[in-house]
Amino acid sequence: MEKLTDLNTQAAVAMLRKGEITSMELTQASLDQIERVEPVIHAFITLTAEQALIQAAAADIQLQTARKNGTNPVASMLGIPIVVKDVLCLKGVRCTCGSRILDNFIAPYTASAVQKLLDAGVVVLGKTNTDEFAMGSSTENSGYGSSHNPWNVNHVPGGSSGGSAAAVSARYTSLGLGTDTGGSIRQPASFCGLTGLKVTYGRISRYGLVAYGSSLDTVGALARNAGDIALAFNLMAGYDPLDATSSRQPVDEINLGLPFELKGLKIGIPKEYFITGVQEEVNQAVRTAIALLESMGARIHEVSLPHTAEALPVYYLIAPAEASANLARFDGVRFGPRATDDNMAAMYKKTRGTGFGTEVKRRIMLGTYALSAGYYDAYYGQAQKVRTLIKRDFEAAFESVDLIAAPVAPSTAFRFGEHINDPLAMYLEDVFTLPANLAGIPGLTFPVGFDQNKLPIGIQLMGAPFSEGLLLKTCHAYQQITNFHLQKPTLADHP
Ligand code: GLN
Repeated sequence: MEKLTDLNTQAAVAMLRKGEITSMELTQASLDQIERVEPVIHAFITLTAEQALIQAAAADIQLQTARKNGTNPVASMLGIPIVVKDVLCLKGVRCTCGSRILDNFIAPYTASAVQKLLDAGVVVLGKTNTDEFAMGSSTENSGYGSSHNPWNVNHVPGGSSGGSAAAVSARYTSLGLGTDTGGSIRQPASFCGLTGLKVTYGRISRYGLVAYGSSLDTVGALARNAGDIALAFNLMAGYDPLDATSSRQPVDEINLGLPFELKGLKIGIPKEYFITGVQEEVNQAVRTAIALLESMGARIHEVSLPHTAEALPVYYLIAPAEASANLARFDGVRFGPRATDDNMAAMYKKTRGTGFGTEVKRRIMLGTYALSAGYYDAYYGQAQKVRTLIKRDFEAAFESVDLIAAPVAPSTAFRFGEHINDPLAMYLEDVFTLPANLAGIPGLTFPVGFDQNKLPIGIQLMGAPFSEGLLLKTCHAYQQITNFHLQKPTLADHP
């Protein structure tokens, strides 16, 4: 039999329903795998093993009862172990956001997205590592040390949701939650050989997600195939009265079991995404995947997104501006550890000075500057205008094509230390992922090859708002006839 930790979510759901395995066995297999592999991967900030076993035992009772009464819904995730990025609150569990400033902060409530999965019966194994406040592309900005890429531990897993990506790739579990503000689900999914969905802004509630860039933040999932993502998406998506920016648009349940033909699907190739400076193997693999989609019936068109080059400066004004406001609340009074000093102002300064890491401080300063009187119009105001142009580029493109295909990142997973002392080089990592966040549209990453060092290469498909179903169906069709998504790092078996 396949190892329990190798099962994807849908396969595990089916076996749990039939009583062929128990949630306890599945959860214990995950915990064993974590014990073996975690010393070299470091995917977690907080492991919740004890609680997980309690949740698994409860799930088993429910599964048993449901089996007797024939009531277990096919699409539930009852008894499935998952991991949760440590920027999403889980009541009673430490939530650090990868920052020392929240080192001892216990979440008083649960994020809506997580709650919906808990209501469906998932088991939470723990909270995964992230760049501090989700600012970064490698987990090197975490206040708790970096996570390592299971395909090669000398390379980063990507970020900021690198902990969840590493955990799913190292076969701790089949599904992880992440967040994507500028690429933080898609890029680590790509670096770790996974499928990762960034949803339309507002499609999944942000309630209980510690805010980074409020107008850009989205919650989503990383898994090993489109089907598992669809399962989680169906459970998490939808209007939430607790999040004023959550969309009231009804959710179309995604059913990948229905027949779907790529024939006639129009895929646009934006020339601005196929530029010099991209690793040749990445370019090649993405082009080969596009050719395969074409041979399956899709029609390929060149499109133009003229303001693509502006996305990077626009994002690095808007995101820090929003972050500087969002992070003002961490002052040692309301959350986390408090430094002691003679007076209040000195206490604030010391708490923030010692609690925040370098990158977070850099962004607070950038953002405060961009928002300050006299500079607001020149920087923040201007950036908002260009953001609208970026959004319009996509609107225009989606008049002639259904989806847009592009690379996820300029390179495969880079080595530790390669970009960490050069913030601009690190920011360049995000050049292909930021536009979707600025436009609020969904994007899906999935594996389409490996480079010569056997590091995974991903492709990114982007779609019009609320086209998550089309994205996942297209990916599912591709995964039916390819096996890149089935490869696993050797470390998962021999740490
Ligand atoms: N890497 C980008 C940044 O550093 C995106 C992060 C994210 O999506 N959370 O801001």
